[in-house]
Amino acid sequence: MTDPSPTEGNSPTLMLPSAAAVEDGGALVCRESPEPDHAYRSPFARDCGRILHARAFRRLAGKTQVFTRSQTESDHSRSRLTHTLEVAQIARTIAETLGLNIRLAEALALVHDIGHPPFGHAGEKALDRALQAHGLRFDHNLHALRIVTGFEQRCPAFPGLNLTLAVREGIVKHSRDYRAQEHPELSAYLLDQFPPIEAQLIDLADEIAYLTADTEDGLEAGILDLDAVRDGVPLFARHYAQTAREFPAAPTRLLRNEALKAMLNAMVTDLIEEIRRQARELGIDSLEAVRRAPRRIALLSAGLDAEREVARRFLYANLYQSEMLEAEHRRASEIVQSLFDAWVSDPELLPDDHRLRVQSEGAPRAVADYIAGMTDSYIESAWQSWSQHQTGESR
Ligand code: MG
Repeated sequence: MTDPSPTEGNSPTLMLPSAAAVEDGGALVCRESPEPDHAYRSPFARDCGRILHARAFRRLAGKTQVFTRSQTESDHSRSRLTHTLEVAQIARTIAETLGLNIRLAEALALVHDIGHPPFGHAGEKALDRALQAHGLRFDHNLHALRIVTGFEQRCPAFPGLNLTLAVREGIVKHSRDYRAQEHPELSAYLLDQFPPIEAQLIDLADEIAYLTADTEDGLEAGILDLDAVRDGVPLFARHYAQTAREFPAAPTRLLRNEALKAMLNAMVTDLIEEIRRQARELGIDSLEAVRRAPRRIALLSAGLDAEREVARRFLYANLYQSEMLEAEHRRASEIVQSLFDAWVSDPELLPDDHRLRVQSEGAPRAVADYIAGMTDSYIESAWQSWSQHQTGESR
């Protein structure tokens, strides 16, 4: 194992031990159906390609991140696809700077939201609530695993995308720890160990991306007020003040964007430095040591983590749970719940391939899988057809 080359501006003594990175070999590149190596693409580069070319990935373009198109009348708000691409950019930067496996981090970022249902978190909550009435749960990470191991049918040779073990493990474990007793079906994914750093960093790359991007989209949509953001988010206020000093004649919109960029950069830099600090403190010198460490090591420093939490709470109170969005969330919940109930009570209404799965999965799971795969516009038209059908019936 060679030392990673020092990145410009970084002291080599502060680099993460390169042995802590996932290599392009060994058990972590195993696929459920064995395949010969590609002539010139690494296993994780192939996984990036497979995710990028998947239908479920393309459907992210039609899924809500925070705003639906009708809420903002803007072509510039993030969709779940553009959010995903931003997370991938951040994850690559962190992985590259730390000498980690860039392609693995990229694959995990590209796939991290692939299991999200339509209508953002409101859709996910509604689907989970609907399933709970049948003793089941909806979890977007576990749904993502079902997509890449089964639903996404692209090749005659195997079901799903046949991704490497490292990517499947990262899908399951990037944002939370599942208990082995509650999830025996996940036993292949080493639930008693932490995932590689490439997977651990995805959760914060995701949060850094959405905290800054959603603030921008919220301001752009007029739901967030610039003075309120400055009063409520010290991390933003600090960078805004500095930017305003630097560019006294700049228009507000550019100052705002520059401040958000600086805020993003500050969090990414802090995360990189804190991972190095944690690795030093815990004596991390191998992937095995990452896995057996007493805690996850992809963390922000205590100070910045507290500021991140303030920013997150601010967005919850003023954006995600704002009156304008809540009205839409209630409507989303009603649509998901009504269609779920209708299809569970009469699975004959489902399209053929989903109806066929009722026998093996049970109607609630088969219906939830069908709904979870929909884009916002697809579920809207399904809702309209169903409503018209209901109106016709009651005449
Ligand atoms: Mg995300």
